[in-house]
Amino acid sequence: MNLIDRIVQFRAEIQSIRRDIHAHPELAYGEHRTSSKVAKLLESWGIEVHRGLGGTGVVGVLRNGGGRRSIGLRADMDALPVLEANRFAHASKHDGVMHACGHDGHTAMLLGAAKYLAELKPFDGTVNLIFQPAEEGGAGAQKMIDDGLFERFACDAVFGMHNWPGYAVGQFGTRPGPMMASGNRFEITVTGRGAHAAMPHQGVDPVYVAIQIAQGLQGIISRNKKPIDAAVLSITTIHAGDAINVIPDTAVLGGGVRTFEAAVTDLVESRMRRIAELTAEAHGATAKVKFERYYPATVNDPAQAAFAAGVLAEMVGPENVYPDCEPTMGSEDFSYMLRVRPGAYIFIGNGDGSHRLTGHGQGPCMLHNASFDFNDELIPIGATFWVRLVERFLAQR
Ligand SMILES: [Zn+2]
Ligand SMILES: [Zn+2]
Repeated sequence: MNLIDRIVQFRAEIQSIRRDIHAHPELAYGEHRTSSKVAKLLESWGIEVHRGLGGTGVVGVLRNGGGRRSIGLRADMDALPVLEANRFAHASKHDGVMHACGHDGHTAMLLGAAKYLAELKPFDGTVNLIFQPAEEGGAGAQKMIDDGLFERFACDAVFGMHNWPGYAVGQFGTRPGPMMASGNRFEITVTGRGAHAAMPHQGVDPVYVAIQIAQGLQGIISRNKKPIDAAVLSITTIHAGDAINVIPDTAVLGGGVRTFEAAVTDLVESRMRRIAELTAEAHGATAKVKFERYYPATVNDPAQAAFAAGVLAEMVGPENVYPDCEPTMGSEDFSYMLRVRPGAYIFIGNGDGSHRLTGHGQGPCMLHNASFDFNDELIPIGATFWVRLVERFLAQR
């Protein structure tokens, strides 16, 4: 692996920043300590800093030479409402809040790149270092865009990177086109008429109707969408009733839908409405469907994904890069940036979990798990990749 020596030299400094952020996790739009730490570090390295984009977002700007090209590198900073099971020294000091998705590490890798780029300025053009709030459900990327991110900081292309448990350390993945799914959620309220449990004929049982609807919805996936179009529908909540001898008035189903294409989401939503409303009607009940699209699919620009894969292959060897990796049905709000700028999202292998220090909790090293920890081995690897990407991208004519 071709790592940059200088970055390897100051890895310990960035690692201690990463662990400090891990110990002080903050939820979406509450990243005050984190973003102010990021801003102060960038300033201490001589980088021009802009605060307050999308609330707690920070942009660092580095310019060098007369080059007109520009690039955006994005890291997310927020943590999750998870009670950390780890007991090692840098475990969360905020009960019920945890960096269980590794955004502490994403922030650290970009800081590592920033420090090196500011020190040596090995590029000609403009680098925008984008530290965003609220990736976990809060659409912080869109908030920064709404605050003029790309008008104020021109980016010919924008890149994001997520640690990926299961890929070995030193392995990377990206792909042309859809990489992560859209995130959509629904709630279906079935209203019947309550009755004594022993006299169902005197009412309209919303529980029975909700179960018919739940069964019917899976038919959208298996019978209505084209088999080669990816989509998943999960009913994850069912709420009804308080007493076992009372038929309630209402039953509520909730869940999520993931797809790679808006047209497939349209199909799922419209079929869901018909199945819910007409099934309810058939039984003398009514159904009200709320369907919310919270994140669009993350769709890489094919040329930028290939460009990033080429830079990676030089760095870690082609055998360690999946240029057409398997997409995931998880979702990611970097999708908003890719809707308005060409670019690519990249997975960086976080290993199998054996990096976790003694005292880590039971369980796998999967994202959003209470025993997760970002792998500090990735700091020089990810930072080197960001630097090489900047150098190559801005050198294009
Ligand atoms: Zn996450
Ligand atoms: Zn994440």
